[in-house]
Amino acid sequence: MRATDDRYAGERAQFDLAIRLIRHQARTHIISECTGFSQERIRKLYATYFKHQQGNRVRRKRGKSPSAVDFFFRNSRVQAEASALAGLFFVYGLVRLRSDLTTGPGAVRPGFAKGERFCRAFEDYLTLCPSGQLSFERAWSLQAALETGDGVLVADCVRCGALYVQDALALDPATCPGCRGRQSA
Ligand SMILES: [Zn+2]
Repeated sequence: MRATDDRYAGERAQFDLAIRLIRHQARTHIISECTGFSQERIRKLYATYFKHQQGNRVRRKRGKSPSAVDFFFRNSRVQAEASALAGLFFVYGLVRLRSDLTTGPGAVRPGFAKGERFCRAFEDYLTLCPSGQLSFERAWSLQAALETGDGVLVADCVRCGALYVQDALALDPATCPGCRGRQSA
């Protein structure tokens, strides 16, 4: 009986995570990666729990995930939000920040553990930035970019010492988005 109970508890947790990810409008392949559910099962979950609700604001995203990192540097506000989110990734162990400010894979294992931690980080971001510009998908691609060190770097501001994310290919103004904002104000 015990094994059955554990299995049920595990399935229940996967189910809850799938629903949480659907609410955040995660793409099917991400939900599948985090829960182990098949695409067909995820489609059914969506149809059962979201499609026919009145005032339903959950929309399914189709096609490829946005991966261009340029988005995070389009303006100071988005860059500041991406920096805050990166900080949450470090705290939650989703990305490792080394002492030389290079980044790599965090301690959290891919799959279910990553899915749960990622939801917590993203939900904290939404609390900090209620009208934030970064969708779940954008956040996911930022985590991936930091994990691989591809296109996004972490720098420390020469003025205030805050850590922020910057475009790996851009000329570095060496100041964080907050200080740049104060400079131009
Ligand atoms: Zn600064």
